[in-house]
Amino acid sequence: MDNITEKVLQNLENRKINSKYFETKEDVKKAILDEISSDNTVGIGGSMSVKELNLYESLVEAGNTVYWHWLVSKEEMPSVRKNAHNSDVYLTGTNALTEEGELINIDGIGNRVASMFYGPKKVIVVCGINKICSDLVAAIDRIKNEACHKNSTRLKLKTPCAATGECTDCKSPDRMCNVTTIISGKPGEVDLNVYIVGEELGF
Ligand code: SF4
Repeated sequence: MDNITEKVLQNLENRKINSKYFETKEDVKKAILDEISSDNTVGIGGSMSVKELNLYESLVEAGNTVYWHWLVSKEEMPSVRKNAHNSDVYLTGTNALTEEGELINIDGIGNRVASMFYGPKKVIVVCGINKICSDLVAAIDRIKNEACHKNSTRLKLKTPCAATGECTDCKSPDRMCNVTTIISGKPGEVDLNVYIVGEELGF
């Protein structure tokens, strides 16, 4: 583990947010599966990090009821998002994590970010080493100029960033940057956990 990651873990602890470090994707996946019992309902946010870990498949195999709106029809998405929001355990990534231990996220609908601080009993945020940023300004810059255009392209949205790779703070109907959140301490009614992985995960 490098000095910056050590600093992030210390700052998360100072903010009363539980945190752990895992060397590899396999290690973090095993830890997550080990702490979710088969009778837990599990919600998954719109997260490439969680997708890359193939957690959905392993949880279903273990007998869990899993709510993930990425896998259902457009009509079913709202109810699946609500079930995920009320789940026992919610799994998601984060758009950025600052060295000071702040979680920064930008969301289109807001379900993913809302579920990170209120709703589920327990939240596990998986954070690849590539998501760590020096400060809030660097975090927003990373999200806008590295993550958003990739997500826009993935979702086939008609946004300026999908076309050019650059954010114009658009007002397009497909705009995906509608809610920006900063989690700067442990929210009162959720067991919030941040698991940092020493490999790149998501974007
Ligand atoms: S505000 Fe618009 S252009 Fe900028 S990142 Fe968001 S969707 Fe893309």
